[in-house]
Amino acid sequence: MASLQQPAAPANERSYWGNVWQAVKSTAVGLGITFRYLWSKPFTVQYPDEKLPTDDRYRGIHYLEQDLCIYCQACAKACPVDCISMDAKRHGKELEWNFFRVDYQKCMFCELCVYPCPKDCIHMGREYALVAEDRSEFVLELTTWQGLTEAQKVRVAEAEAKKAAKKAAKKAAAAAKEDKEGEEK
Ligand code: SF4
Ligand code: SF4
Repeated sequence: MASLQQPAAPANERSYWGNVWQAVKSTAVGLGITFRYLWSKPFTVQYPDEKLPTDDRYRGIHYLEQDLCIYCQACAKACPVDCISMDAKRHGKELEWNFFRVDYQKCMFCELCVYPCPKDCIHMGREYALVAEDRSEFVLELTTWQGLTEAQKVRVAEAEAKKAAKKAAKKAAAAAKEDKEGEEK
């Protein structure tokens, strides 16, 4: 029958009062650290009410300076994952915007869409919170308005009136020329 052997006592085993002293000492050290941080400024922030500042070079959700954009699609062509889509109708120099979207289900924040922009109007922003209950909500609209603005409508109407006046003047000149030629005959 195997005999039960008592485990050998560790060589550095402390006495009872040694253990008590160690416990009191470590508690005092711990409380010292706690009290030291009690009066210092907290490192934590109450997200999402508070947010830590992001670096200047941070690449977050894009922002578009829509009034500068010329609908050239250079940014969309440069995107390696085809996540930029846009649609607009041209009225001479004015653009009637339908949409300008980025699909953040695919976007990898590489910034390759920013460099080819001839108007420097698409930028990587600082916003990083992409929270949604449905994946379709990760397709974000970058335009701030759709259609034509009131100012654009005025400019389009002016340009059309100018064009119509020019056309009418041309027509009148042609008619006058015809009349003159008729009289001469
Ligand atoms: S950051 Fe990169 S992946 Fe995202 S839209 Fe621009 S080019 Fe495409
Ligand atoms: S490259 Fe610039 S100007 Fe051209 S469509 Fe994109 S954002 Fe607009």
